[in-house]
Amino acid sequence: MLVTYKFRLYPTRTQESLMTETLETCRLLYNDLLDDRIRTNAKAFEQKRALAAFRHGNKFLMAVHSQVLQDLVFRLDKAYGAFYAGLSRYPKFKRKDRYNSFKYPQIGGFKLVGKRLRLSKIGLVKAKIHRPIEGTPKTCTIVRDIDQWYACFSAKTEPRPSELRSGQPVGVDLGVLNLATLSNGRIFENPRCLDNSVARITSLQKSLSMKKKGSANRRKTRVLLAKAWRKVRNQRLDVAHKVSTILASEYSTIVFEDLKIPNMVRNHNLASAIMDAAWGQIRTLTAYKAERNGGRAILADPRGTSQKCSGCGETVPKGLGERTHSCPNCSLVLDRDVNAARNILAAGLERARAEGQPLLVQRRRISKFVPAKQEAYGFSRG
Ligand SMILES: [Zn+2]
Repeated sequence: MLVTYKFRLYPTRTQESLMTETLETCRLLYNDLLDDRIRTNAKAFEQKRALAAFRHGNKFLMAVHSQVLQDLVFRLDKAYGAFYAGLSRYPKFKRKDRYNSFKYPQIGGFKLVGKRLRLSKIGLVKAKIHRPIEGTPKTCTIVRDIDQWYACFSAKTEPRPSELRSGQPVGVDLGVLNLATLSNGRIFENPRCLDNSVARITSLQKSLSMKKKGSANRRKTRVLLAKAWRKVRNQRLDVAHKVSTILASEYSTIVFEDLKIPNMVRNHNLASAIMDAAWGQIRTLTAYKAERNGGRAILADPRGTSQKCSGCGETVPKGLGERTHSCPNCSLVLDRDVNAARNILAAGLERARAEGQPLLVQRRRISKFVPAKQEAYGFSRG
């Protein structure tokens, strides 16, 4: 399985300007490749061949590692693939502030040397390796996040079944009041830090809308807004890592509701969009950590999980504000979310049995650098 590691980089001034130059060269080339595809219907292999021949006459292209340039053809292919699969819009030309990463797709372009990362054409860059990489890194993506730089490695590792887990399956109800409620009654509270960040983003967005277009003040506010988003992304990911680590290390089977998270994000306010993204990350991270630990994460049909009685199966209607489940049929009285989590657990195990094999939660991209649509929208309005 592939695991992603992300480390902060501390480039020197020279290295930083080389990386900025690389981003710009890649962006321009990406736009050229897109233009070429639109005009001539060029295929990926033709573009790769043309690129290899063309590179030698150009000092800007020569200043970038050849595989980093070739990767742009793949990147474009992926964009087209997503478009044809109906997952995204037609590939767009990239503006300067929307182009923030380049990728070394193979070992050879990059190498970890102690606490430093050797990048071809850039040099030996100081890195904060805060956890060891298991397995061999296959690719290395350099990411600019406003004024910070990161390296993301994807490495192949073998699952390592742990002996520590109790072996108990658990159902998880993800919510707003409490971030996660487990079928055994355990609760993960919703961190307050996210609320503060939401308040700050809201106020910055308001202040941005009042600034004159093209003014220096507006630019400054946009940077502040982008940094506020970064903070909220980091906080959210941090929370998701903590919850998922606990779930994946203490339980053998973890059942989540099969909610179509990307669809839910639409038409929501800011705070709930952030919560939706947090739930998505918890599920994704739990799935891969569980797999790594030799466990599994599965999905349950979400229908009726909050209304059904987990004791007797009777439907007990309740409003959104009702916090307690109280069954007139079997007189079970239980916290609303714990009742839901128990139903989720039962439904997940039932489904896994019926379909004969564990339904692993599909692993999505765990990179946090690609903002959810809502965020991108807020940012582009500036
Ligand atoms: Zn009941």
